[in-house]
Amino acid sequence: MGPFRVYPYAAFSAGPDINYMHTDQTNLPFGAGQPPWSAHDWSRFLTEATQNPVVVTYGRARREVIRSKGFWNDPAGRPIELRLSNIFADAPERVREAVGTWLKSGRRAKGACKLLDDWIAETLSALPPQSPPRKRKLALDVAGEHHDLGSLVAELVTESGSPSAEFRTMDFSANGLPEFTWGRRTKSMARRSLHLGSYSETSHRIHIHPVLDQANVPRWFVRYVLFHELLHAFRTANDAPKLPGQRRTPHDRKFREREAQYGDYPRASAWQKARISALIRSASSGKPLGKARRKIFGFEF
Ligand SMILES: [Zn+2]
Repeated sequence: MGPFRVYPYAAFSAGPDINYMHTDQTNLPFGAGQPPWSAHDWSRFLTEATQNPVVVTYGRARREVIRSKGFWNDPAGRPIELRLSNIFADAPERVREAVGTWLKSGRRAKGACKLLDDWIAETLSALPPQSPPRKRKLALDVAGEHHDLGSLVAELVTESGSPSAEFRTMDFSANGLPEFTWGRRTKSMARRSLHLGSYSETSHRIHIHPVLDQANVPRWFVRYVLFHELLHAFRTANDAPKLPGQRRTPHDRKFREREAQYGDYPRASAWQKARISALIRSASSGKPLGKARRKIFGFEF
């Protein structure tokens, strides 16, 4: 079998699946006449049933109720990792066996799949609705003191979502425009690097580091940082969905090529190179950034 397998077999879900960040909680009513099975019980059972090491963890997912990762007879000896929805703590024996059969044979095991389908559908429909993940409601700081992110984003992407020059080939309609905000103005620890901006797929939000909200940071530089983060948001929404366990390479060649098409890219990257150390100092000391020399790498500022 391939490295990944998801149940139900309906492709991989795009978008954040925060359920997978919660681990090993079972908060289901039991009482089906048997003690619930722990993840350890499952691991032992499936290892035995498939003759291949399997390590099971529980999650709270209700959509992809089983997700496996790993290779059979992995030459490096790594086990198959199996993420089970915690509804499986209560699975009767025939369902346990069906999981083992499905794990070994996939969709070819028609009988096991049918049994699993029915049991999963029935079990899920009997559950109370899942409480939505708690969202920390953060007050967005869009205006800033020196640079208004709202007007910058409006320049980059017109209000209707139709692309301006910078986003000629970008269509945000898949997920909508992300939210954006200045990051919190807390003094940062002494550090050697600085994230000038970030995009979170989970909250669909762009944070711009508050060190950029000062008089001696040119407005066009903040605009470039916003562009960079919008590009991440765009790619996340429009590129092939991440496979389970796969990591994106955020600044791959395609990203760099697209970024280099940004009209102001040469000037912005020259400014960043010249000023990054001063920005880091400003972020850790809380003192304002000094004026730039008038000329940096041939650019007049
Ligand atoms: Zn980036």
